[in-house]
Amino acid sequence: MDRRHFMGQSAAVLGLLAGLSTQARANLPKAEILVIGGGYGGATAAKYLRLFSNNTARVTLIEPNTAFVSCPMSNLVIGGSRSLAEMTSPYDTLSKRHGIKIIQDSVSNIDAEKKMVKLASGKTLRYDKLVVSPGISLNMNSIEGLAQANKDGVTLQAWKAGPETVALHKQIAAMREGGTFALTIPEAPYRCPPGPYERACQVANYLKQHNPRGKVLVLDANQDIVSKGALFKKAWAEQYPGMIEYRPKSNVIGVDAKNKTLKLEVEDDVKADVLNVLPQMAAGEIAIKAGLANSNARWVNVNFLNFESTARKDIHVLGDAIQIAPLMPKSGHMANQHAKVAAAAIVAELSGWEVNPAPVLTNTCYSFVNDREVVHVASVHQYNAAEKTFKTVPGSGGLSPAPSILEGIYAWGWARNIWADSLG
Ligand SMILES: Cc1cc2nc3c(=O)[nH]c(=O)nc-3n(C[C@H](O)[C@H](O)[C@H](O)COP(=O)(O)OP(=O)(O)OC[C@H]3O[C@@H](n4cnc5c(N)ncnc54)[C@H](O)[C@@H]3O)c2cc1C
Repeated sequence: MDRRHFMGQSAAVLGLLAGLSTQARANLPKAEILVIGGGYGGATAAKYLRLFSNNTARVTLIEPNTAFVSCPMSNLVIGGSRSLAEMTSPYDTLSKRHGIKIIQDSVSNIDAEKKMVKLASGKTLRYDKLVVSPGISLNMNSIEGLAQANKDGVTLQAWKAGPETVALHKQIAAMREGGTFALTIPEAPYRCPPGPYERACQVANYLKQHNPRGKVLVLDANQDIVSKGALFKKAWAEQYPGMIEYRPKSNVIGVDAKNKTLKLEVEDDVKADVLNVLPQMAAGEIAIKAGLANSNARWVNVNFLNFESTARKDIHVLGDAIQIAPLMPKSGHMANQHAKVAAAAIVAELSGWEVNPAPVLTNTCYSFVNDREVVHVASVHQYNAAEKTFKTVPGSGGLSPAPSILEGIYAWGWARNIWADSLG
């Protein structure tokens, strides 16, 4: 083909595409896109909907909190080496720099038939596309006595970073000399597979310096450490000898708040001074209330090409709330990646373009074994069209050989980058 012929054909194809997309693209600025939740999934989706649409999409973010507080790094607050302020970011850059309308409220109901959401303040909003990223809900009723114990502040979860994170650190700092901190882990899947084991390190690191006869007891309902097992076990043995006791297959079924005692399914009761009880988790309440949680009434099944709920059309669900693909962690990094795939797909759908048929996601997760040394796990997840799910790419990713200060520097780099990517 000569150059003139090629140019002519290309121009014709481009003209056709331009004609098609101009017509379809007209739908994009007219569409109302609402995003529920300004966490790792929702904030990223709101920002990338604007970026991918060349700032033409109308995007409204609904979030009750005045600022974003990161769960990643928050275990360091519990360990006393960092403050919550260091992991808090304002939302106003999303409005000032990216033109996203922010409503400080929470969604109390979704009417998928009428395509409306109702806010706690009583207002209703219409949508053409709805993005739902409400994170997790904690099933306090999965453990007898826990709901009341948590209400009374006898047990804390600190699994949504905020005031409880600070309160838990205070309880640890006030623990009697030689006392025991007990952390209980529910059966997977739960938010952040390595998070509880990192927390055990942070508490032990604090006790080593301030209460060296203190103990950390980890009661894990799982068969073994869920993530980075060998690395955590080695760090516990080398850095906190005799301080961390790990008991797998220990399912906590009850809390006796008065006697600070945990009831286990099989073994004898356990008494401790500070109780950090993590119950079973499920998709955020609004997802369950809206009838989106069609995987065992707990998690939301989605079409992995655009993250649209399989239960409701035009509702795209991201982050911890979804039923994950095999080996896909419930992590902030993943929620950020889901958001970009969903945002690109929504812009494509509203513009009449083809949705990317082969998305790829990456994940990196850093864990601090003390206040400076870190280990990581990484993975790459490729969409598999035949099985309609994401599969890890063989040979991708991997684990740290050992904890290091250099990885501690990388971990802070990761955190600052993802906060800037999601909120900046
Ligand atoms: C201790 C700890 C350590 C962690 N460490 C890491 C780590 O190192 N790396 C990593 O990648 N991940 C880590 N994670 C996991 C990470 O925090 C989650 O996977 C991530 O926050 C999930 O993002 P999300 O958007 O699904 O939910 P979230 O980030 O929790 O955001 C949900 C948002 O929705 C809002 N919301 C809820 N309901 C409503 C409603 N009805 N209306 C309006 N808004 C609503 C909430 O206020 C919240 O802001 C950690 C978690 C914990 C607890």
